[in-house]
Amino acid sequence: MAKVNLNRVSMPRQDPKTRARNFNEVALGYSLEQAQEEASRCIQCPKHACVEGCPVEVDINGFIKAIGDGDMPEAVRILKSKNSLPGICGRVCPQETQCESTCSLVKKGAPIAIGRLERFVTDWEQANKSTELPTVQTTPTGKRVAVVGSGPAGLTAAADLAKFGHSVTLFEALHVAGGVLMYGIPEFRLPKEIVQGEVEYVTSLGVDLQLDSVVGKITTVDELLENGYQAVFLGTGAGLPIFLNIPGENLNGIYSANEFLTRVNLMKAYLFPEYDTPVKVGKRVAVIGGGNVAMDSARCTLRLGAEEVYIVYRRSEAEMPARREEVENAKEEGIEFKLLTNPKRFIGNEQNWVVGMECYEMELGEPDDSGRRRPVVKEGSAFIIDVDVVIVALGTTPNPLIASTTKGLETTRQGTLVMGEEATGKTVKPQVWAGGDVITGAATVISAMGAGKRAAADIDAYLRG
Ligand SMILES: Cc1cc2nc3c(=O)[nH]c(=O)nc-3n(C[C@H](O)[C@H](O)[C@H](O)COP(=O)(O)OP(=O)(O)OC[C@H]3O[C@@H](n4cnc5c(N)ncnc54)[C@H](O)[C@@H]3O)c2cc1C
Repeated sequence: MAKVNLNRVSMPRQDPKTRARNFNEVALGYSLEQAQEEASRCIQCPKHACVEGCPVEVDINGFIKAIGDGDMPEAVRILKSKNSLPGICGRVCPQETQCESTCSLVKKGAPIAIGRLERFVTDWEQANKSTELPTVQTTPTGKRVAVVGSGPAGLTAAADLAKFGHSVTLFEALHVAGGVLMYGIPEFRLPKEIVQGEVEYVTSLGVDLQLDSVVGKITTVDELLENGYQAVFLGTGAGLPIFLNIPGENLNGIYSANEFLTRVNLMKAYLFPEYDTPVKVGKRVAVIGGGNVAMDSARCTLRLGAEEVYIVYRRSEAEMPARREEVENAKEEGIEFKLLTNPKRFIGNEQNWVVGMECYEMELGEPDDSGRRRPVVKEGSAFIIDVDVVIVALGTTPNPLIASTTKGLETTRQGTLVMGEEATGKTVKPQVWAGGDVITGAATVISAMGAGKRAAADIDAYLRG
């Protein structure tokens, strides 16, 4: 056997200085030659360890082999038979902690760049318009399923249910489908065209997408079940921001990351001057938090023209939940990291606009419930950072609307839905399944998709009696 190259083929990216001032995609993707070179590193190990790391069980070896063989339509077919949103996963999944972490090459060198190859296959499909729909069950079952929420959980559940032959209506509260993929993750990481392409693929399977339809307002889950739907899947996400609850948090110029990113993405502030969306950009911006949402918010403010942008995080870099790649990208672009720093209060001017933030220095103590070392205030360490915009990116919880308008659903103290059976996504209410952030709290695209897939399989089994 030829010697395996232990280094992965690098993927071209926009230069940091240039990209820090535009919203074009940062990563530029592999060429066919680069993809085939990377695919040739795969040793096609018999145990297919990478598949174990994939919550939607894509036949990873299979699609990589097809790339190596130059059979791109086959690579598309293999990918899409398990994953209805591969262009999205190839861009934002944390492969480093999933499929790539279980790759057989990990012990010796760099794992196969599975995410980059997945992205390459879907970009190839987009460029060659070769969409070949997976076989949809030819005989419709005559069963109706309502899916609420069109984020990755809802889209995956809807697609799989349609492939099983059921009649699916997908209700979405907003005027566009995609959930966080559309209103949260910015264009430079996940172009909206890619999301819309994958939403169109799901509707092409026969899913009836109803936009501007807030379940809990226009109709309730109970009414859906009374009016001909035999099962309901809830993929309503976790859209309610968590705040710091410290003095001054109501000052002007302080946003939740949800509001800020919605203005940038959904209300198209990133397309200025074509769209003149009201959003204060500021010159000195502090983003509070250490997750992907914080990185995205900080990098957006830079692109909108902020001069100094700080990530303010109360632990050290090792505990940051953001993807490593995104932390590195943010640093390269010039974002300054103020680690082991925690805000104590916000300071406003006479017009009630934020002008500063008093912070404490922190040190790390014993591990807390999350397993990460608990940040502890250093006495006498208070100091002030001058800022004119603050973005709070501390996480989210589910909106209580569905739980409060549905008889028999239960919620946890964090507002997530209580499961009846975790493995299948059954809630405690008969005929109602749920998955994604509404169950786990803010998590990942692929975990939401995995939950949608498992629930769809269980709903199918239930409908077939
Ligand atoms: C800025 C940001 C960056 C992120 N980056 C990453 C990343 O790099 N990698 C990663 O894996 N994950 C990332 N995540 C997390 C990931 O996006 C989420 O875990 C995932 O989108 C959850 O999917 P979901 O389908 O459960 O919910 P969502 O994507 O939140 O979708 C829920 C949908 O339900 C709709 N809805 C809610 N209530 C109702 C109702 N009553 N009636 C009808 N519709 C309703 C909402 O409008 C929304 O469209 C990021 C999240 C954010 C906010």
